[in-house]
This record gives sequence, C-alpha cells and structure tokens, in this order.
Amino acid sequence: MNFTTPLSEVPRVGPVYQKRLQILGITTVRDLLFHFPRSYEDLSVITPIKTIQEGNTYCASGKLLDLKQKTTFKKRFSVTEALLQDSTGAIKVVWFQQPYLADSLKAGDHICVAGKVLRDKDGIYFASPVHEKVQDANSSSWQFTHVGRIIPTYAETAGVSSRWLRSIIKMVLASLKDIKDSLPEDLVKAKKLPALSQALWQVHFPDSMNAAKLAQKRFAFEELLFISLFVLSERRKIASVKAPPIPLSTELMKRFTDKLPFTLTPAQKKSAWNILKDLENPRPMNRMLQGDVGSGKTVVATMAALSVVKAGYQVACMAPTEILVQQHFKTMGPLLAPFKVTIGLLTGKTDRFSSPKLPNDFIEISRAKLLEKTREGHIDILIGTHALIQDKVKFGNLALVILDEQHRFGVKQRAKLLHRTALIPHLLSMSATPIPRTLAMTIYGDLDLSLIDELPKGRKKIITKIVAPQERAQTYGVIKKEVEKGKQVFVICPRIEKTENSPEGTEVKAVKEEYEKLSKEIFPKLKVGMLHGKMAQKEKEEVMRKFKFKKIDVLVSTSVVEVGVDIPNATVMMIEGADRFGLAQLHQFRGRVGRSDVQSYCFLFSESNSHGTNQRLRALLELDSGFLLAERDLKLRGPGDFAGTKQWGIPDFAMEQLTNLALVQEARNTAQEILEKDIALKQYPLLRARVQELREKLHLE
Ligand code: ADP
Ligand code: MG
Repeated sequence: MNFTTPLSEVPRVGPVYQKRLQILGITTVRDLLFHFPRSYEDLSVITPIKTIQEGNTYCASGKLLDLKQKTTFKKRFSVTEALLQDSTGAIKVVWFQQPYLADSLKAGDHICVAGKVLRDKDGIYFASPVHEKVQDANSSSWQFTHVGRIIPTYAETAGVSSRWLRSIIKMVLASLKDIKDSLPEDLVKAKKLPALSQALWQVHFPDSMNAAKLAQKRFAFEELLFISLFVLSERRKIASVKAPPIPLSTELMKRFTDKLPFTLTPAQKKSAWNILKDLENPRPMNRMLQGDVGSGKTVVATMAALSVVKAGYQVACMAPTEILVQQHFKTMGPLLAPFKVTIGLLTGKTDRFSSPKLPNDFIEISRAKLLEKTREGHIDILIGTHALIQDKVKFGNLALVILDEQHRFGVKQRAKLLHRTALIPHLLSMSATPIPRTLAMTIYGDLDLSLIDELPKGRKKIITKIVAPQERAQTYGVIKKEVEKGKQVFVICPRIEKTENSPEGTEVKAVKEEYEKLSKEIFPKLKVGMLHGKMAQKEKEEVMRKFKFKKIDVLVSTSVVEVGVDIPNATVMMIEGADRFGLAQLHQFRGRVGRSDVQSYCFLFSESNSHGTNQRLRALLELDSGFLLAERDLKLRGPGDFAGTKQWGIPDFAMEQLTNLALVQEARNTAQEILEKDIALKQYPLLRARVQELREKLHLE
C-alpha cells in the first residue's frame, strides 16, 4: 500500500464505506491518512481497579472473569454483564443494548475499558464503556486503538465513526510501504520536526499531546512551505519576463495633481511614486496598493493609468461589482477629462464608452463595437467587472491591469488576464481589505506592497456605538436629525428577504422588511430607498444615482454597498445584524461614511447576546485601523475565507496556522533559502511535484 492506492484496494473498506468516505473527499490512502483528528481524548492512564470510585470516568485493564447476557422486558432490552479483574481488585462492567458483545467477548479475555463509573444497589460498575481486547495483561499502549492511550476523535459525518476510522487508519499505517517524505531529510532534522511516517503515526496515535502538536506543526509547516515556494518562484518568474516600460513624465503628473481639488497626502504621493517607478521597468510590476476605505486609492491608480495611456498603451480596470465599476468610471472620467482619455465601460449588460468630448457622459454602444474599439486600441481605459476576463475581450496594446479589491477575483482569473498578451502587462491591485502580515507573507507573498496609511486631512473620527434593543428608538431620532440637517443614511441588513422557518430568536433582518417598516412606520416623511443584489442592473444604478443626488435620504441595502461606494454626504451607517459580518467587513461599511469633514456615526445592532460576539464587535469601538481590525478578526475567527484564502484549497490544519506569524515566517525563510540554492528545485523532485500540484490547482480550470 502506498499513498496513491485507491480505497477500493484497501482491505475492510467495502463499497458502502468507499461511498461514505468519498463524501468526505477521501478516495485514496493519502486522503485517508491526511484526514486528521479533530481532537484527542487522553485515555492513557490505567487506574488500578481498587481505587476506582463512582461518578468519574476511568480507564481500567484486566481479565474478564465472567460474562453473561440477559434480556429483559419481553426481550426488548439486552444487558451484557461481566466482571473485570486486575491485580488490585474487580469491578462489574455493564453494557446496555449491545447483545453482539456476547459473541466477541468471553471469560478469560484480557480487555481494556474506558467509561463512566456509576453506582446501583449492588455497588459501582462501568456503564457501557468503550472496550478493546488486548493480547494479555502486559500489552503496551501502542497496541491499543480505542482505549488505554491518547485516542483520536475525527469529525464524524456521513456515517463514518471515529472507531471505524481509527481501526482502518491504524491498519493502513501499519501496512504502508514506500512513502517518500516530500520534505528533505536534512531539513526535517534541522527544524527538529518528525519525519513523514513518524508524523503520520503521531498525528493519529500520539504518544503524548506534545508529540501530536509537533506532528501537526510539521504538516502545517510543510503546507506553508509549499505555498511559499510557489509564491516566491512565481515572483521570480514574473521578474524574468518582459513588460512595456512606461516613461515617467513628472510634467504630466504635475499637470494632473495641479488640477485636483485637493492636495495628495504624503502616503498617496509615496505610493504613486512607487508605482510610477515600477512602471518604468521593462519587468512587470506586481504591486498591491493597500489603504483603508476613503484613503484615496482611486486617484493614485488614475495617475498610473494616465501615465500608461499617454505612453500610448491601454489600461484594463476591473472591479467586483457593477456599482463600483460605474463609480470608477464617474471618478476617473472627470479626473482624466482634461487629458482627452477615452474610457470604455464593459459590464454584464449594457456597454458604453465615453468620448473625450463628453467626458462625464456615456455613449451607448454595442458590445461588438466596444470590443472592436478595444481590440484596435481606440479605448484607452476599459473598466468592467468579470466580463473583462472573457476570452472575447482582446486589447490592442494592454500595458496595465488595475484590480480593485482583487482577492475577490481569484488567483486563477488574475493569471488569465495577465497572460492575454505577448508582453506581460503591469499589475496594480488595490485593496481596502487590509491583509494581515501573515497572509501578506504567504499567499500574497508575490506582491510588492504600497500602503496608504493615512486618511486625507480634516476627516473626523466616526463615532461608533453598539446599540442595545431599548435604544433603538433613540437611534432613529439621531437619524431623523441628521436627515433634517441634509445628511444621508445607510441601513445595512444581512439578507434580502426574510427566510421562512428561521428558528425563533434568530431572525435575520431583511432589506425588504426593513424598507417597508422604515418607509411606512418609522420615517414616513423621509425618502427611503432600497438596494440589493437581486435587483436589475438598471434599477440598482437608478437607486445609486438617486442617492448620490440626494433624492433618497435613507438607503436600506444589503452588503452590495460594501466596498468603495463614495457618497461624501452620508453621515450615518446603521448596521442590522452586525454579528453576521466579519470585523473587516464591518469596517468597510463604516468607511462608507466619514468621507468629509462632518461628524459621522456608525450604529451596530446585534441579534446575538453572546459574550464572544459582543466582544468581537467591541473591537470596532476600540480600533479604527482596518489593519488592526483585520489582524483581530483573523485571530478571533481564523482565516475562513479571509481575503481569498479559500481558493488556495489549503487544508484546515494549515489554515489554522496561517495566523501563526513565527511559523509563517519560518516557512517563508526556508523557501527563500531553498530557492536561492536551487531555483528549479532540481534536487528536490518531491518538493517540485507538490509546488506543481499547487500551481495546477490555482491556475488551471
Ligand atoms: P478608497 O481608497 O476607499 O478607494 P477613494 O479613492 O474613493 O478612496 O477616495 C475617497 C474620497 O476621498 C474621494 O471622494 C476622493 O476624491 C477623496 N480624496 C482622495 N484623496 C484625497 C485627498 N488627498 N484629500 C482630500 N480628499 C481626497
Ligand atoms: Mg475605492
């Protein structure tokens, strides 16, 4: 048996279990062995029978003196009774409803049991304990599987019990041949980690909790090392291909900034400089522009775009939602108007482009026409959603790809866009979702980072409150006052519609119901609007337009307004069911307000009273840095699907370690050392194979 042996060839795994395991994603011996325990139970201490007392859980070992099977109450209820004796004494063992035991156990057998000890009129007894037969009284713990040792507990689903998995895994481990450790031997030694086969034994059947931890660490390290090797070799690869160099014209940039209604912050200037210097290189830029909501990333990206366009090339700009696409168009249009730049808009449905003569307006155009213009190089900047990465979209001379909130697109799509042309375009990805340091070092390790770590001057700190149910009316009062002052309000709900049969007390606020309630009962005199993802594109646009032009006072919305939407006149962000969102996402919502020098508010309503939830929300009161909130979120909730981690297919045991800075750093340093000596991993065929596996998983459909 080796790693690639299919389960169908493993003894005792019949078709029924093959099916069940398949549901768990387990089809080979390797899958089975990498199905790690969820937890462990320490049943390693064997208690002398004499000292056992009622009420506790014990593990005892001895010889069965006597075994009888009784059936009571019209043969409906079976009781198997035995007496277990060790050198110190004897105790009764009772199994209820397990009649088959009488067939497998008999007087004289040595067994080990673990379970709760109770008392009845005749004295104390083990009540339906777990048991395991052993060779003799001197069996050592490694011979045990279910008791008498630290035993693994697996996530039990699909009709596969821990007991069954333990037996099979142990049998497979014992008959494994020729498994090769992907980690080189000297590395394993240097890092004081267990080698593969030892680690597999210890992760399933550990000698001690420490040994289990060390085995887990090894597997996590291994996984993080593969990721680092992949990411760092991608980085080197990108550095070896050609991109069109874009000359930096300080005169052009000065003309651009002189026309802005504000001066750039030092952080914006520095980021712009980084980017423009990168663009001068004949090597593709691979840079992430990270900055809190409202920090002004768009202007910086626009400078890069202008630079590229004036050098005679095209720019593709991709954003995750239609609303953002529209907004980029509306922001970039006027900024670039004096420079005669043609911007195309490719969305899911209607396509448009701006003419340099009408920079703030659209000209409707057919998809075919727009694609033709793009192919011929007549569109300078093409803005769009996922539609941009269709194969039909071809650029005449693409030199820069701007991705807004790129982690939503996925690594695969990014690669697709990048390899569209002969020359590799430069890549600028923007994110308001701060990437915690550990993630920046692992899955984003191929990117250079520019930080806009300050907000434009004059912004006031947003007053954030967790609102108790009895303060709701009062909060509505604040909202009313703000609207009377001419300000606008966002109300965010977790759902579009109320779900039927939601268990009592777990009702999730829904946009439609809130809209009805707010427009009819609470604010009958105000203009209330509604926005959600199921609305037609035209409707959504219309609502956003109305909100922008103050035709709507209160906008009830789902998370579609999450990223990037810019309404400086909005001063209140009210979030229903705040416990349903991650901290980073809540911070994004909060960033929709406070975009001018007027005082803004963020009100958090929580449906959960749990201590953990409220503690989590309280982080928003303490911290107003998206970066710190993201770190906190990552610690509290784990990576889950943080910033696009999911698409990497990282196994759970390694996901947990994505928050472990020391381990992440160690893996990255090790990867760097390995690549420095051997860039192609020639001496490490197994490492190379695993990295290749990861590459295929990420890049190929
Ligand atoms: P984000 O980084 O969230 O994408 P935006 O680029 O949308 O931020 O900018 C937010 C708002 O701040 C916009 O209205 C923009 O015009 C404005 N802005 C950008 N930079 C500055 C600055 N240096 N001073 C004042 N306002 C600015
Ligand atoms: Mg933005």
